[in-house]
Amino acid sequence: MTRPWNALSTVLKERYGGPVYRVAVDAGLSCPNRRPDGSGGCAFCDGSGAIATHLRTGEDSGSTSALLLGSSPSIEDQVRRGLSYIRRRYKTGFAMLHFQAWSNTNAPVPVLEKIYDRALALHPFLGLIVSTRADLVDDEVVGLLSSYIRPGFEVWVELGLESASDAVLARMGRGHDSAIFAPAARRLAANGIHVCAHLLLMPSFEGRAGWLAALDMVNNNPVEAVKIHNLCLTRGSRLYEEALDCGCITTASVRRHVEDMAWLLAHLDPHVIVERLLAEFPSARLGMPRHFPDKSQVLDRIAGHMVAKGWAQGALKV
Ligand code: SF4
Repeated sequence: MTRPWNALSTVLKERYGGPVYRVAVDAGLSCPNRRPDGSGGCAFCDGSGAIATHLRTGEDSGSTSALLLGSSPSIEDQVRRGLSYIRRRYKTGFAMLHFQAWSNTNAPVPVLEKIYDRALALHPFLGLIVSTRADLVDDEVVGLLSSYIRPGFEVWVELGLESASDAVLARMGRGHDSAIFAPAARRLAANGIHVCAHLLLMPSFEGRAGWLAALDMVNNNPVEAVKIHNLCLTRGSRLYEEALDCGCITTASVRRHVEDMAWLLAHLDPHVIVERLLAEFPSARLGMPRHFPDKSQVLDRIAGHMVAKGWAQGALKV
């Protein structure tokens, strides 16, 4: 079934003739929202920098799935292993380099430059993707990132918005408000850097009205792509402990996620690229929800629901 949204896989096929995989790297840059001893941080974060041992790529792009790492491998090791996995499994070296774990602009710019340069020198990558927080995107960082742009080489920043509600962000211990997202996105886009926004659907804390407000921030800013995640409570996160204690924090059922996601996609600007619609964690780390169908089944159900409703991406956008 053709899925009624602007999927990353389709965009990559048009741009490069086929899938482009991601080599995910953990540069060990940590996160300004955590204390030096590793405590603190966002309530939904288990302290593994969002990926830890399980490096994976964007959905719908023919992703690398599991790449298990040993303890603290060098950047060179990580790139080598990622490339070898892609070559073995997909018989291609078409890839972008993704600094994925933690906040990847969380260091002085000369340090960042050395780290990016080291990894980029290892392979003729088609692009650089840097995941970070909006409060770590100043002019110096933007200057460094834009210096890598050249014909045939894209630079993307994945920015965590998560929610448009300051009350929800405060409840999550996010350490910044939602107002910093738009200026960061504009600063990046004005310098030729593509922006992908991360949203997190947290049904115990807000509903469709709140999610629509976050989607409006995507629609009304120079954001080219989006990743929308269902809330997953990973073992070791504060939110998982709270959920066990109080029994008052829920994660979405499959049916609810399918219906909410279809509705949100119908409100998303049709030009925005959809990179991800489902969070995925290795089962050893996942506390809740315990049972969710695999990604392609969920995506098919979202597509089926949209078709049944007569919706395509943006159909309900005003
Ligand atoms: S900003 Fe990212 S890495 Fe830092 S605590 Fe929050 S989710 Fe974890």
